[in-house]
Amino acid sequence: MAATRMVVIGGDAAGMTAASQARRRKGPDELSIVAFERGRYTSYSACGIPYWTGGEVDGPDALVARTPAEHRERGIDLRLGTEAVEIDLDRRRVRTRAVGDGTYEWTGFDHLVVATGAVPRRPAAEDVPGIDADGVYGVQTLDDGEAVLDGLGRDGVRRAVVVGAGYIGVEMAEAMLRRGLDVTVVDRADQPMGTLDPDMGALVREAMEGMGIAVEFGAAVREIRAGDDGRVRAVVTDRAEHPADIVILGLGVAPDTRLAREAGLPLGEHGGLLTDFSQRVRGHDGIWAGGDCAEVFNLVSGDTEHVPLGTHANKHGLVIGTNIGGGYATFPGVVGTAVSKVCELEIGRTGLTESRATAAGLRYATATIESTGRAGYYPGAALMTVKMIAELGSGRLLGVQIVGREGAGKRVDVAAVALTAGMTVERMTSLDLGYAPPFSPVWDPVLVAARKTAGKLRE
Ligand SMILES: Cc1cc2nc3c(=O)[nH]c(=O)nc-3n(C[C@H](O)[C@H](O)[C@H](O)COP(=O)(O)OP(=O)(O)OC[C@H]3O[C@@H](n4cnc5c(N)ncnc54)[C@H](O)[C@@H]3O)c2cc1C
Repeated sequence: MAATRMVVIGGDAAGMTAASQARRRKGPDELSIVAFERGRYTSYSACGIPYWTGGEVDGPDALVARTPAEHRERGIDLRLGTEAVEIDLDRRRVRTRAVGDGTYEWTGFDHLVVATGAVPRRPAAEDVPGIDADGVYGVQTLDDGEAVLDGLGRDGVRRAVVVGAGYIGVEMAEAMLRRGLDVTVVDRADQPMGTLDPDMGALVREAMEGMGIAVEFGAAVREIRAGDDGRVRAVVTDRAEHPADIVILGLGVAPDTRLAREAGLPLGEHGGLLTDFSQRVRGHDGIWAGGDCAEVFNLVSGDTEHVPLGTHANKHGLVIGTNIGGGYATFPGVVGTAVSKVCELEIGRTGLTESRATAAGLRYATATIESTGRAGYYPGAALMTVKMIAELGSGRLLGVQIVGREGAGKRVDVAAVALTAGMTVERMTSLDLGYAPPFSPVWDPVLVAARKTAGKLRE
């Protein structure tokens, strides 16, 4: 009997994890696996680009978890430089175009994995004239990382402007600082890190200014000015003109679902593919989707949303590969956990912000506390701010945001577990968390926040 064929579109986290996991479960006699990737790399860590461009880690090879050759050795027919251009659901086949010579080919499938990722948001030239000037970079792929490093290597590059102050923007601001540049961050929002409440975003902003990063918030970029040589010279906002020798765009991403949409696969309100818990595209047997091109279920709000993070993409891939490989696995959803940092400032968040809780129709109390991350007398004890949000009535934890120095960011994981378990903040107050002076005060900051929030709920 001929082997079943699995076709994967997209050779990074979700796609190649799915392919590898399916291969682990089924040999080539049972399952043939073809993976199409339009770029040059597979299984790469875009997450490492800020640290590579900042000079802290090597790249690009060090950022590749598994090379094309390693995938091929494991019996995956990986086709680099090959772009999928059409999905024919009726005849169960995918049309591809070779990036090099432009030749087209059809490949049939029994199982199709759509793992096309996301596309970075980039304003159109009619909205922001000059956006295509030489020296303006997005940061999505390892090729982008190489382009940024080339840009940094040019003569006279002293001033960087980062447009967009989400987590990629602030991480790239740090990278530019590490390269010794004068750095300005602009964003049309009033505070950086839109995934935090504004009061917590304000702490990030203050810390960024303290690090010597110039900021302009609440102002949209209107134009990017270039010199006669076509190279970027300045970023012009509603209120100011910021001189720039290099511009980094960190404006967020949207799910890359053009192929899926044209094929008639179901998309959610955030533009991502809709799947069931097994990562099967809703209503389509044998069609699977995961990673940044798919929407996820939020276990706290009960909504689907687009959360483009590598942590989810890898888990989706594992679930898809297990299911195609004859096993059973599900991805239940996310609670919205993310960590990031700008220089020594760590930022963690999980669950709902105040605005998200309000949008979900939830009434809540909040409490914000300041505490050190170690016993106050222990060397290096530094402050962190913890904000906790809990539902009125039930007392259920809804969300936590933490901004502070060493040890702040990953503390949010405790709250992520509490959210997943559906704990009340009252129950959290007696959690058995580890304590020793180098790691925590005797009352961990998360416990202090839980006690204060529980007190507010009792009022
Ligand atoms: C700078 C940066 C920092 C990040 N930091 C973090 C972090 O700290 N933590 C975290 O959890 N996440 C982070 N992320 C997000 C993380 O990288 C993504 O969520 C993850 O890579 C998504 O994996 P994916 O497989 O869904 O999509 P992608 O990694 O985008 O891969 C999709 C692949 O599909 C290919 N492709 C698309 N369309 C086609 C087609 N038609 N034919 C053939 N190939 C196609 C693309 O070339 C691409 O290689 C970061 C991202 C960036 C850019």
